[in-house]
Amino acid sequence: MAGDNDELRNAVIETCRAMNGLGINNGTSGNVSVRVEDGFLISPTGIAYDRLAPGLIVHMRMDGTFDGDVLPSSEWRFHRDILLTRSDLNAIVHTHSTHATALAIMGLAIPALHYSIAAVGGHTIRCAPYATFGTQELSDAALGAMEGRRACLLAHHGVIAAHGDLARALSLAVLVEELAKQYLLCRSIGDPPVLDDAEIDRVLVKYRSYGQQRSAQDTAVIPSAARDLLK
Ligand SMILES: [Zn+2]
Repeated sequence: MAGDNDELRNAVIETCRAMNGLGINNGTSGNVSVRVEDGFLISPTGIAYDRLAPGLIVHMRMDGTFDGDVLPSSEWRFHRDILLTRSDLNAIVHTHSTHATALAIMGLAIPALHYSIAAVGGHTIRCAPYATFGTQELSDAALGAMEGRRACLLAHHGVIAAHGDLARALSLAVLVEELAKQYLLCRSIGDPPVLDDAEIDRVLVKYRSYGQQRSAQDTAVIPSAARDLLK
């Protein structure tokens, strides 16, 4: 596990800026964290991303304490609780991306419309029940919705996407937004058909085996967004 260093702090900053550059976040509503040896690094609250510098990234301990005057994101609880309870996840991206948040407002989970949902680790992307931002209640709801998954929606709020590192957590947040947009477009036409659980199970197996083989021939047939999530 990486220690706290400027390279990792800069990676948090770049991920924050990339969220906005990719169009999955506006302003400073999103936040980013990454696990380090004795806790995690997290983006600060209320500082514009273009003003961020390594010294403004907050190093929190798992008991929620930190040193210095810069306050962590108000959502540090769900970042901390996911990192505490999910040893498979090391980096978390939280956004209010438009289409995913629209579904979250409606309390809708994203069903298996497209096989790439398997990159989230299961058949659906659940929507956690609403709780006030920054509360333990919200964190508890998020943990439940994340069970066996790498992402979830938060009702009337936004998205959490997590993975083994920052780059893949960011790619997953982009994928969730794409799937949400596709779902909304489909719902504007009618009641969309979904892939059955057996098919998503097959895709999950293929994703796992592709992730292990990584030969040029194997990876060439995987869409680039999904390929990023296998590394
Ligand atoms: Zn939020």
